[in-house]
Amino acid sequence: AVSKYGKLDIMLNNAGITGANKASILDNTKLEGKVAIITGAASGIGEAIARLFSQHGAHVVIADIQDDVGLSLCKELESAIYVHCDVTNEEDVENCVNMAVSKYGKLDIMLNNAGITGANKASILDNTKSEFEAVINVNLVGVFLGTKHAARVMIPAQRGSIVNTASVCGSIGGVASHAYTASKHGVVGLTRNSAVELGAFGVRVNCVSPYVVATPLAKNFFKLDDKGVHGVYANLKNAVLEPNDVAQAALYLASDESKYVSGHNLVVDGAFTVVNSGFCVFGQSS
Ligand code: NAD
Repeated sequence: AVSKYGKLDIMLNNAGITGANKASILDNTKLEGKVAIITGAASGIGEAIARLFSQHGAHVVIADIQDDVGLSLCKELESAIYVHCDVTNEEDVENCVNMAVSKYGKLDIMLNNAGITGANKASILDNTKSEFEAVINVNLVGVFLGTKHAARVMIPAQRGSIVNTASVCGSIGGVASHAYTASKHGVVGLTRNSAVELGAFGVRVNCVSPYVVATPLAKNFFKLDDKGVHGVYANLKNAVLEPNDVAQAALYLASDESKYVSGHNLVVDGAFTVVNSGFCVFGQSS
């Protein structure tokens, strides 16, 4: 063009082909047309899940108590609505599920992700009953209510995927407070129990259990910088766990790629929970 006309003013890149219509790890259509509620989606891991699910074609319902942040995230996504939803309040959760169904006609995915750490107090003697209950209410009762109201609409549809955000604290002790650890063990148990019941209706229930991710929740609790906990504590070196890594695990469990996976706890921790660093034969000098 330049040698013939001396310049190029306009370049219109229009040629295109569709290629094969195959779902693969590289495609961005794993949730095309699906409707997903994500609780605690205004921040951290929930926000990363909302962004990834939206990229994969889902209609996303952002359910949180941080209205301003939730609403502004909503505006950035292709197809999303924000619903104020305190997961400890059954009416809010019921309303959120009803809003999703009335707006989009169905509910395919329920991502029970909202969570808090509670106070970081070393001894059980310093913990109050009300502090303990507050954490259990959000982290466990919230998951119970989300599962219950998702099941209410998924059972008649005879399909659906429920994914709960648990934690490495759902498998081991000593990493967080008593309330947090108890709540996350509870989430793993509730995931298994509801997977058994809801399997009869074609509904899958799984959880994802991340190691420490540098979100506002973890940064406040562990007094971390943006890089999170790595080096001395993390087992897997040369990698830092980020919100999107957890979102990718949630995407797998939410999508049809995991169509026969249910009752599973997908641990995303670089093998943190499978080693006792106090007694480990690797890396010791002989
Ligand atoms: P975050 O603080 O960045 O996000 C949590 C979100 O939950 C916030 O948007 C908050 O407004 C919302 N929320 C809190 N209480 C709520 C309520 N009552 N109703 C509705 N929404 C509420 O934290 P995060 O690290 O992204 O945590 C998300 C989930 O991941 C939690 O369940 C947490 O326990 C779990 N988790 C986090 C880590 C980590 O290291 N960050 C590790 C393992 C598991």
